[in-house]
This record gives sequence, structure tokens and C-alpha cells, in this order.
Amino acid sequence: MRYSQYFIPTLKETPADAEITSHQLMLRAGMIRKLAAGIYNYLPLGLRSVRKVENIVREEMNRAGAIELLMPSVQPAELWQESGRWEQYGKELLRFRDRKESEFCLGPTHEEVITDLVRREVKSYRQMPLNLYQIQSKFRDEIRPRFGLMRGREFIMKDAYSFDTDEKTANISYDKMYRAYLRIFERCGLNFRAVEADTGSIGGSQSHEFMVLAESGEDAIVSCTGCAYAANVEKAESKPIDSAEHADPRPLEHVATPEKRTIDEVSAFLGAPASFMLKTLVFLADDEPVILLLRGNHELNEIKLNNLLGCKKVEMAGDEIVLNVTGAPVGFAGPVGLRAKIIADLAVKGMKNFITGGNARDLHLKNVNLNRDFQITQFADIRNVVHGDLCPRCDTGILEMWRGIEVGHVFKLGTKYSKALKASYLDDGGKERIIFMGCYGIGIGRTVAACIEQNHDQNGISFPLPIAPFHCIISALNMKEENVREASEAIYEQLVSAGVEVLLDDRDERPGFKFKDADLIGIPLRIVVGSKNLSEGKVELKIRNTGEVSLLPLPEAVEKVRSLVAEALKG
Ligand code: ATP
Ligand code: MG
Repeated sequence: MRYSQYFIPTLKETPADAEITSHQLMLRAGMIRKLAAGIYNYLPLGLRSVRKVENIVREEMNRAGAIELLMPSVQPAELWQESGRWEQYGKELLRFRDRKESEFCLGPTHEEVITDLVRREVKSYRQMPLNLYQIQSKFRDEIRPRFGLMRGREFIMKDAYSFDTDEKTANISYDKMYRAYLRIFERCGLNFRAVEADTGSIGGSQSHEFMVLAESGEDAIVSCTGCAYAANVEKAESKPIDSAEHADPRPLEHVATPEKRTIDEVSAFLGAPASFMLKTLVFLADDEPVILLLRGNHELNEIKLNNLLGCKKVEMAGDEIVLNVTGAPVGFAGPVGLRAKIIADLAVKGMKNFITGGNARDLHLKNVNLNRDFQITQFADIRNVVHGDLCPRCDTGILEMWRGIEVGHVFKLGTKYSKALKASYLDDGGKERIIFMGCYGIGIGRTVAACIEQNHDQNGISFPLPIAPFHCIISALNMKEENVREASEAIYEQLVSAGVEVLLDDRDERPGFKFKDADLIGIPLRIVVGSKNLSEGKVELKIRNTGEVSLLPLPEAVEKVRSLVAEALKG
């Protein structure tokens, strides 16, 4: 490809509306342009990287035995009504009517459509295991589309769906996808972790997310220093903390705490660390009050709470209800004397002589003790783990915190959709049974963006070779000089014939200008052709990510590039 005839509209200035590096760089490198909030044009350079990721994904899906098909993005409402998600999905589902007033939506995911297809076509145990996938545009009317391709409204996803006769074989299908995902993200050159994830509203028994480690990541994840345990904080289990305090219970004291409401305020006022205080939260579970107790330095995990209660609606109680339940305004609640369901986090178990609200304005209690001063209904794991917590799996490790970008997600669905849509088959005894399913997604554009978050410097993107738009750029310093032109063309031809993807910068621009663009768009290998070096039969080869420069005779430079590319693409 010749730069002069190509379309790479780079920008000098950082666009003001782009908050994170990958978004800024994808705009500046001329990879994408915004059409509307969360809706982007993929320009040629951006599309090339997107296609690279798609191809890696496609190769690994095929290798794992999945079969590609393509489903429509427009989906009829009836299927979503059948699964129950027409009601549940909320505003992310973009709904509309056609000229006959029939209702449709733009597919945010394809469980309904694929299950409908399979229930019509798969009748016998002999047709399974079956795994079908597509690479296709999804639409989700996200509340806050942002960060470019990272959280778009229209975005490209690979989604695969597995169909099995029973749970055991469904688990095998899941493991195959899990291993394929490891290969995919390794091949993309990413630093990532597979973490246990909450199955959330989708239900099902097990799920893993694939998280690219990056400071800008929207997810918090933990991993153990001593074993392989890793999980999303939404899901990460906490181990009960045994008390370090063996103190005997001291007599209960009332202390005046005028206008001191928050843990921080009371802690500063009484000169006691937050971990000595008991945090008391009033919640409503299907409109019934529930009291939640946590150590002062811990945060509630609402996902764990929701899973524990299994209610339709769980929400924090308003001021009036807090007053009703505790007899005090917000900020002075405590468990002593309360008549309501009380759930205490596991870390509360070991607490002694702690401080709580006194259920009256401007009052707190000191030296409160479990069992002596109040009873609880239940202990449960309802908090977020924190950096330094003991690992719930091994006895030695502690949990470390990271930020992550979720690029892939695998799910055991069980029979949730097959039951709702009545997707069944006949087993070898002729008995009708429900199909077991799994679903497996990868955000293609998000993977490119996440890769840039991990691979850039102050000059621009530094793509790992497997997903770079081109492998090599030839910066011809002055195409008007005959020897430079001829050598550049010759190297270009030789590399292209060797299967290397080359961008020949033949523009009539100053060298500094060309180098700036080459660094910005992140091509991994650069050959600089200038008349001075050429007079000795040499060209310069620069490696983008290490900055390493070598002066090589022409044939050696070509051979070096060829072998570096071949090495990096070994799947
Ligand atoms: P998130 O929690 O980030 O909203 P999700 O859990 O809703 O994502 P899934 O339904 O699991 O996402 O979708 C599968 C994959 O699609 C995700 O792992 C992610 O890589 C990608 N993806 C999801 N939403 C978006 C989006 N708005 N823009 C770009 N990629 C997305
Ligand atoms: Mg997800």
C-alpha cells in the first residue's frame, strides 16, 4: 500500500472529547471517526486491526470446532417475549416498529435467535455437541457510551453458542471455549487474566471474564499471590476474618457524637480506626426492611447481596424509612435494640468492643458486643474484598487488586433459554430432553482499544505485530531521488512477495513529519531509506516497541523483517 494513495487522516492535536489514551490515539491515528454517540466509522487503518482480531478469533473458533454462521441484527419482539427478556432488558434494547406495526429490536446479543434456529433444526442427540458462532454488529443503547470503541452503542462482537445433550458434555464445550479464549488473547499479544465472574441476570452456574490489565479499566479484579485464584471483585469471595482482639467484653457506653454521621467523621471524633466501627445499612428487599452490618472499613457488595436475598427489588432505604426503622435520622443507625432481619458480613464475626450508632440523634455506642448486646439473623459474605485480604482458596496467598478491561466473557447457561424457548431433542432411548447451552462473547473493537491501552508511548501507538494494521512501514526519505525511489520500490516488492504487509511512505513530506506519523500509527517495523546510507548499500531498521535501530545491507534488512514477521505470527 502506498501512503500517498491511502486514507490515513492523522491529527496533530489530542481531541478534547476523548478521555482515555486508546480513544485519543485511535482518533489521532485516523483509525476511527465518530458518527453519533457510541457509533463509529471504521477507517481503513482501524478496520485492518479489527479484521486482524476477527481473523485470530475466527481461526481459534474453527480450531476449537465451532462453526461460523451469520444472524440478522434486526430481531422480532416475539422471541424476546418468549424468553421473558422483552420486559427485563430495559432501555439498552433499542425497539422499533416496521410499517405493519410489528415490533422489533436491534440485537444486543443473540441467545433468542440462535435458540430459535436450533429448536427448529436440531432434533436428535446425534446432532450435538454443536457450537455456532458469528462475528457481527451488536447494538446496545448504553447509558454512557464512551472511550471510543471501548464502550460503543454499535460494536462488533464475536458470539458463540454451544448446544449439548447434558451438563457434563456442556462443561466440556465450555472448557474448549475457555482454552480457545486463552489462545486468542495470547495471540493478540495482550497481558490479561481469566477471572471468575458473577453470572448476574443471565443466570447459569459458572462464568469467566477475560480481563486485559490496564489502569483505565472499568472493572476491579483480584488475583492471589499464592495460587491461581482470580476473580472479578463483583464475585470475589471473602474469607472470614478472625479477630486479633481477644479482649473481654467491656461495659457498654453511650457517647454523644453531635452531627457526626459518617464512619470517617465518627472515627476522627472518637479517635478510633474505621475497622473498630460497625457500619449499619438499612435496605429494602421487596419492600421489607433488612439491616446490613459491615466493618467500618469495608464496602457492601450489592451483587452478593442480591444473589443472597434472591428478591425482585433490593434497594437502599430512604431517609424516612431509616427514621421509621431505627428511630433516628440517617447516620446514627446501629443493631442494638432493632427489630428487623439483620445480616452481618463474615468479617463482623470476629469484632469485639466496637462502636455503632445508638439509634438516636447524635448518639453512638462504644464497647458493643455481638450476642451480649444484640442478635443477628444470619452471617453472610456481603462485602467487596480489599487488597491484602486472605485468599479464599489457598491458605498462604493474599489478594492483589488490578484494574481490568473485559474483552471476553464465557458463560454456562444451563437450560435457561432452551427451557423458555422449548429447545429439546430426543435422546438415544427416544426420550425428549432439554438442551444444555453455553454462550461466549468477545468484543472485537474493545480488544483493539484494550491492546492500545497496553501498547503505547508518548509518540503514539506501538502495536504488537499480530494486530498491527501493517507489519512494516518503509519511510522513503526523498522519493524524488532516483536511488531512494528505486531502493524503496525494490524493498517494497520483495517484502510484499514474502507475505509482509507493507505501507510505503512515498509522500512528498519532510522526514520528521513522516517519522511522527509512523510512530503515531504504531507500525511495529520501520525501514528508513535515505541516500546517505544507500551510498553504502544500507538502510536503517527500527523496531517500534524497543526503539532498537540497526543499519543493515538491503538484503539483510528484508530478510530480518521477513523473519521477525514470521516469528511474531506463529500461532
Ligand atoms: P460490560 O460489563 O462491559 O457492559 P457486558 O458484560 O454487558 O459488558 P457481554 O454481554 O458479556 O458484555 O458481551 C460480551 C463482550 O462484548 C464483552 O466481554 C465486551 O468485550 C463486549 N462488549 C460489551 N458491551 C460492549 C460495548 N458497549 N462496546 C464494546 N464492546 C462491548
Ligand atoms: Mg460480560
